Amino acid sequence: MKYVYLFGCNKTEGDASLKNLLGGKGANLAEMASMDIPVPPGFTISTDVCDIYNSNDKNYPEEVKSQVEMALAAVEEAVGAKFGDEQNPLVVSVRSGARVSMPGMMDTVLNLGLNDTTVCGLAKQTGDERFAYWSYQRLIEMYGDVVLGIDRPILEEVFSSRKKEKGVTLDIELTTEDLKEIIDGLKAKIREVASSEFPQDLKQQFWQAISAVFESWNTPRAVAYRNINKIPHDWGTAVNVQTMVFGNMGNDSGTGVIFSRNPATGEKGLFGEFLINAQGEDIVAGIRTPRDIEELAQVLPQCYQELNDFSRKLEEHFKDMQDTEFTIQKSKLWILQTRTGKRTAQAEIKIAVDMTREKLIEKTQALRRIDPAQIEQVLHTTIDPNADKELIAKGLAASPGTASGKIVFEPDEVVELAKENGDFILVRDETSADDIRGIDAARGILTTRGGVTSHAAVVARGMGRCAIVGCKDIIINFEKEELTADNRIFTKGDIITLDGSTGEVFAGKVPTITPQVSDELKELIAWEDSTKNLQVLANADSAADAKLARSFGAEGIGLCRTEHMFFEVSRVDHFRRAILAEGKEEKETALAELLPLQKADFTGILREMEGLPVIIRLLDPPLHEFLPPHYDKQQLRSLAKRLSMPFRRLEEKVLQLREFNPMLGHRGCRLGITSPELYEMQVRAIMEATYELIAQGIDAHPYIMLPLIAHVEELKLLKELVIDTCEKVRKEEQTTEVIPPLGIMIEVPRAALIAGELAKLVDFFSFGTNDLTQTTFGISRDDGRSFIPAYIEKGIFTSDPFASLDKTGVAELIKIAFERGREANPQLKVGVCGEHGGDPDSIEVFHQLGLDSISCSPYRVPVARLAASQAALEIQA
Ligand code: ADP
Ligand code: MG
Ligand code: MG
Repeated sequence: MKYVYLFGCNKTEGDASLKNLLGGKGANLAEMASMDIPVPPGFTISTDVCDIYNSNDKNYPEEVKSQVEMALAAVEEAVGAKFGDEQNPLVVSVRSGARVSMPGMMDTVLNLGLNDTTVCGLAKQTGDERFAYWSYQRLIEMYGDVVLGIDRPILEEVFSSRKKEKGVTLDIELTTEDLKEIIDGLKAKIREVASSEFPQDLKQQFWQAISAVFESWNTPRAVAYRNINKIPHDWGTAVNVQTMVFGNMGNDSGTGVIFSRNPATGEKGLFGEFLINAQGEDIVAGIRTPRDIEELAQVLPQCYQELNDFSRKLEEHFKDMQDTEFTIQKSKLWILQTRTGKRTAQAEIKIAVDMTREKLIEKTQALRRIDPAQIEQVLHTTIDPNADKELIAKGLAASPGTASGKIVFEPDEVVELAKENGDFILVRDETSADDIRGIDAARGILTTRGGVTSHAAVVARGMGRCAIVGCKDIIINFEKEELTADNRIFTKGDIITLDGSTGEVFAGKVPTITPQVSDELKELIAWEDSTKNLQVLANADSAADAKLARSFGAEGIGLCRTEHMFFEVSRVDHFRRAILAEGKEEKETALAELLPLQKADFTGILREMEGLPVIIRLLDPPLHEFLPPHYDKQQLRSLAKRLSMPFRRLEEKVLQLREFNPMLGHRGCRLGITSPELYEMQVRAIMEATYELIAQGIDAHPYIMLPLIAHVEELKLLKELVIDTCEKVRKEEQTTEVIPPLGIMIEVPRAALIAGELAKLVDFFSFGTNDLTQTTFGISRDDGRSFIPAYIEKGIFTSDPFASLDKTGVAELIKIAFERGREANPQLKVGVCGEHGGDPDSIEVFHQLGLDSISCSPYRVPVARLAASQAALEIQA
């Protein structure tokens, strides 16, 4: 069995296709080595070994040791140095690297192969004693942390206390003698805390580091990251052993990270940061705030040019935006890692569209590449430019969007607080990879140190959290749990607002506005039109929502609920009067008052959706929802007064309307059967609005939909009511315009089963999957919350059936209704409205069933469109 693969030596054994085996880092190092990109020679121990090692009581498979020895010999030959050689020692890094990148979650040890003897060799070899001891000191610190499990701050304390003693502020100011003393201090500390020695035996050092990196697959933070990102726990990490190149050899050396495009905006061009005289770790840890990559053009122009070239070359080769690590050793550029760069949703779309324009990828590739779950983020809010606001600080814009919330300084505390309700901003000097759960629970992240490629920034972007890093204007006092900014003190719990697109921090809660649709998103929407089969409609009850939905790419309104219009404070009393009316006359008078209001609603929506279908559903909820509860005497009394109605009568009526199972009660089309005047008024309002708009030259397309139909006789009666009312208005308006198509919601199993009979009477069906799930399972939408989580935990449900369609039961009913309906009426249009219309997994099912349309909330429209396109591409592929 082959476990070890060389790269950059006299031969390279892996390539980019072997990510599962070699991890992303190892596979890409091999690929780069074959592309003539300068990669320090090394080898990869495969992910198989991780699995065997961790599940076999920390024992390696037989062949691993010998294969590693051989690979090490090949590296020694390639570099011309020997591991453990007293004159010319080989120094290596031992790096983690899983199938998918888990930035900073696992461990890496640098400068391995140094001990009290070889450090002298390195000093002589390089002619730089100070550098050699500095590297050695860093090894001991990292080794103590990663391999011996000592808390890093305890070790860092040795370094910083020496600095304090010497009265220096910069690391550079420490002499070789200081470094030697720090090394002794670190060894003593290790002895004290871990009661073990820092190993002088280099083989022991080497193997312990490798084992520690394999074990770092299972650190709590790595496990938490995998849980959040749904990465399987059995994948394992590979280990890369690689010749060290040193960025800490003076002012002609350095290290950095570049992106081939801006990971926040997607803008093309080199983006990144570097530090002079530093090791790679310094950048990603976010401890020193690095310099903008553009400055490198002045400092080391040759290297800058090469970097640019490599970055382009890598992007063209991998056909995606690259995130690349480099180190410069004495003016010689080395590339240490490249991977597909994490980016914001906004950048994701821009990059996919731009790369298609640049002919780097196909349109279909662009559509496939974007994650529907991420796309919702492009509709990020921005700070209202006209709002009053107090700027208190400015840092680096690391992840866009806005966030307002209470200041919290401890990641664990955010996790606790977020379990209750509320919005929190995590404020830290720097965030380490351990803070992942806190970052996840916070609305936004604010750090005083670190750059835009620090782990904190990368993780926040990946999670769609708004983040500002390197905000030097802020000083945190952790003891007092307060921060100072702009000469003011803010304590824990005070509210601040972050603008992750500009890096600005404001006091208090600043109003935000809804986002604009970018040109790239518009283009993507156009491509989707020619790809997807499902029409994507929106659920919208007002002209404002309709407008928003249209700008997000909605092709019509799939569900316009009419009840929300009655809940408005200015109208609800009119509606109550209609509900409580005694005789027909009284009822009609009350409804006549509502008619113009309802008509105005429809006029607004139909005008906004000119040229597109608007499916209007007649009143659905039980009437008692509009009245105060029977036990609330105070409310009842004041309502009775407002309506000038005797209290007793009101109370009696409310008691009469009371239901034990409202979801199965007097609702939906049952209202139309018992109060036909109500539905008549609604149909009249729709028709008057439509004819008025048509007379103005506006192309209005209403569709009328009846909810909760279960019986064909119900439908017959209501159809007659709708048609008669339409005809009546048509006659009054003296028009020959057609009357709107009529449809029904299929939301109870009986309707699904008799779909054939029903379909003959209507033009369209719309599956109300929320109610259909409720009635198919017999689980109340409102009460299921108490046990559904337990069902998921015990593996009965794979997910909440109200969030993601039940593919076996509910989907089967949809299929039956669809087939029977189409058979009886080949012209029948069939769609879905309800939460499932915005869920990518469910959309795939709707596509496979061959439905015509889905409808979801406006903000989900871009998600649904993309998911519908991907479902269509999936079938083609
Ligand atoms: P992570 O996955 O946490 O980024 P890496 O293995 O990439 O861990 O290493 C951390 C840092 O150390 C990176 O900046 C990397 O470039 C640097 N580094 C790793 N190996 C070497 C090496 N052989 N020479 C120089 N720098 C290295
Ligand atoms: Mg890295
Ligand atoms: Mg319903």
